[in-house]
Amino acid sequence: MPRTYKITINGQETTGENGTLNVVNPATEEVFAYASQASDNQLEQTVQAAQKAFTSWKETTLDQRKSHLKAIAIKLEEHQEELAKLITLEQGKPHNLAMMEVSAAIGWLQATIALDLPVKVIEDSAAKRIELHRKPLGVVASITPWNWPVMIAAWHIFPALLAGNTVISKPSELTPIATLRMIELIAELLPKGVINSVCGGGEIGAAISQHPGINKIVFTGSTPTGQAIMRSAAGNLKRLTLELGGNDAGIVLPDADPEKVAPAIFQSAFLNMGQTCAALKRLYVHDSIHDSLCSKLTDIANQQIVGDGMAPETSFGPVQNPKQLQIVKKLVEDAVDNGATVLCGGEPLQQKGYFYPPTLITNVDNGCRLVDEEQFGPVLPIIRYSDVNAVIKKANDCENGLGGSVWSSDLEQAVELAKKLETGTTWVNNHAEVLPHAPFGGAKMSGIGVEFGAEGLEEYTQIQVLSITK
Ligand code: NAD
Repeated sequence: MPRTYKITINGQETTGENGTLNVVNPATEEVFAYASQASDNQLEQTVQAAQKAFTSWKETTLDQRKSHLKAIAIKLEEHQEELAKLITLEQGKPHNLAMMEVSAAIGWLQATIALDLPVKVIEDSAAKRIELHRKPLGVVASITPWNWPVMIAAWHIFPALLAGNTVISKPSELTPIATLRMIELIAELLPKGVINSVCGGGEIGAAISQHPGINKIVFTGSTPTGQAIMRSAAGNLKRLTLELGGNDAGIVLPDADPEKVAPAIFQSAFLNMGQTCAALKRLYVHDSIHDSLCSKLTDIANQQIVGDGMAPETSFGPVQNPKQLQIVKKLVEDAVDNGATVLCGGEPLQQKGYFYPPTLITNVDNGCRLVDEEQFGPVLPIIRYSDVNAVIKKANDCENGLGGSVWSSDLEQAVELAKKLETGTTWVNNHAEVLPHAPFGGAKMSGIGVEFGAEGLEEYTQIQVLSITK
């Protein structure tokens, strides 16, 4: 009998009053666990617990909160294997990647512990002293997607706590288990009500967005959901950080060495089976190296061992859910119907599990749905170009603006072109690399605000200016 994972309210592991969710292993299509769903009444209790806890948590010093976070880092290290196994079972990624996800979450926690919120002196004259203080906001709700469940929850939760807020975490209904377990572990080390979890789908997400007792929402997920949250958050002017969809372009210049860039391009496009917000999702390759780069990428794709993430030989897991598998399938079919060429992959595997092999598609251009829309899965459209200025225009002809990249052996030229991309992050000779000390966020419809580093931490605070007339 699969285990039922509980929610955490006010320090207590609690059975949800709204029944349970079936959590399916995407490699087997079997239910491997259940997750307790919170009722509206339990959301109310959670908000009250978090509000009550805030009254004393906000009075703790930064150093006291850092001590708590250090203890949490040790605990998560002790439970790395357990959390990684749950990630693979619910999300599908190969176990070594899941281990990396948990260690990245701990790495981000450690980087957060190293941050401070110093008082900034704006004026200190004979007549006046003006100081800028950073105060916590109150109750922060974290709403997360299904691609990197533990890492993204960690990105939200730890800076919120360090800044002195209390937190309610709502994981994706498709991958709630590892997050619910992580919150249980964290709650053991914090005062009651400082960290809580609720579980359920869009309805509880919508209830959170509207709740007047919640002061900020940090959301990672699709752009339409981000827009819905923004609309409902207006009631009490909730602060928002929205990390939304992306359709990142990579541009390979004629002087790039295909042999050298192919492994990094493959990794940036197919990391987590392509289910990564800032994965490389459209690849523009100069005519002069198009065929040789395609051939190198195809070799790498053909080396992947597609299978259950728990099998040690697997390098490429399933898509997380059947809906996303259908999106990928339909986009590829549409491209092929419109004259595209499939270099490798191109169809779901005919076996149990939501398996779709790494797929490379050429003979496509802007105007094809596979190029214009976010595929969020294991398929990369490759677009041949010959005019660099025209390709920048094509890369920017997109409502999203999360990341972008330029690949070249001439760094100066690459940097000049990289600056022209309308994105929150632009990489040169890299893509999708996020780091705990570099702010990360989307331009255009890819989001509002940033995470990581000092700028990310400041998003969990309210400025208070203290103006003293001497
Ligand atoms: P999603 O928007 O469907 O769901 C995300 C979360 O929102 C889930 O927890 C869901 O239950 C909740 N939700 C659904 N409806 C809601 C509502 N009305 N109000 C509040 N919450 C609601 O996204 P997904 O399919 O889980 O994730 C894939 C998307 O996330 C892709 O577009 C991807 O690019 C994006 N993403 C962005 C980043 C980033 O940092 N920019 C990172 C990862 C994923």
